[in-house]
Amino acid sequence: MSVLVVGSIALDDVKTPLAEQKALLGGSASYAAFAASFFGPVNLVGIVGRDFPQAHVDLLKSRGIDLAGLQIAEGKTFRWSGEYLWDLNTRETRSVALNVFETFRPELPEAYRSAPIILLANIAPDLQHRVLDQARQPRFVIADTMDLWINIAKERLLELLARVHMLILNDGEARQLTGETSLIRAGRKLRELGPRYVAVKKGEHGCLLFGDKGQFFSCPAYPLEDIHDPTGAGDTFAGGLAGFLAGRGGTEITFDDLRHAVVHGSALASFNVEAFSLDRLKSVTPEDLASRVAEFRRFVATD
Ligand code: AMP
Repeated sequence: MSVLVVGSIALDDVKTPLAEQKALLGGSASYAAFAASFFGPVNLVGIVGRDFPQAHVDLLKSRGIDLAGLQIAEGKTFRWSGEYLWDLNTRETRSVALNVFETFRPELPEAYRSAPIILLANIAPDLQHRVLDQARQPRFVIADTMDLWINIAKERLLELLARVHMLILNDGEARQLTGETSLIRAGRKLRELGPRYVAVKKGEHGCLLFGDKGQFFSCPAYPLEDIHDPTGAGDTFAGGLAGFLAGRGGTEITFDDLRHAVVHGSALASFNVEAFSLDRLKSVTPEDLASRVAEFRRFVATD
């Protein structure tokens, strides 16, 4: 089964306490599509400007990512710039230039409309709705979001929750959206707003997964000593999770499948933060991924 990924494609300037790199391939859809490509076919919908380097297009193509849905518009590619503080957990956005992203209207090529699994990576809720308006009875829809949309488009985001099977967000966003301090209460409350499953990411502390009838799973984060660039960890997690679900075939998606998907997404995210942009993921082999997933298992097993 293939995954349809819709989101941002960006050129990022990233500064950490140790290094600074400019015009890196970034954006929620770039990370998510790349991560999903570990498990099978991926269709990507996004927009870039005429300045978008061919090398980035070639990199995505080299992973078998279908780019029939990539719009190349007159103007410049979306630019985002962020700086991490010394703990590498706190990030400040330095600048955002929407450029061609301002005019982005996702259009699904005919062949994408019956995609079984759709990942609505982080973009404005209006655009996420627009994707679902064009889709034909997807089996499983996952939505990611960010604090910006909770602040400026909360109503549209809440409407979206009623249309998706799974919501992925971080701990701060879960608290912000529900007004709950307890993440357990927040996870349960979010499920009542529509999605059958909710994944609450806790950065360096792992991830909580909520399902129906009180189903609950907690996944640790990989204990990395050297983090070089956390950008895109959340998008990589979401893409890996969606890709894993697509890769497991056509039967009904169960909570057990989601537990495995969360571990695979977490493993890929842990590779991603080891270098800037997609530099580390580029060299990860299926064997590397399998061995890191096995390590995750060992970290929590008691027998
Ligand atoms: P994450 O580290 O998972 O929060 O994602 C970082 C990526 O999100 C960067 O590569 C940015 O280009 C992208 N990004 C930043 N702001 C936005 C936005 N408002 N909409 C979509 N993508 C964004």
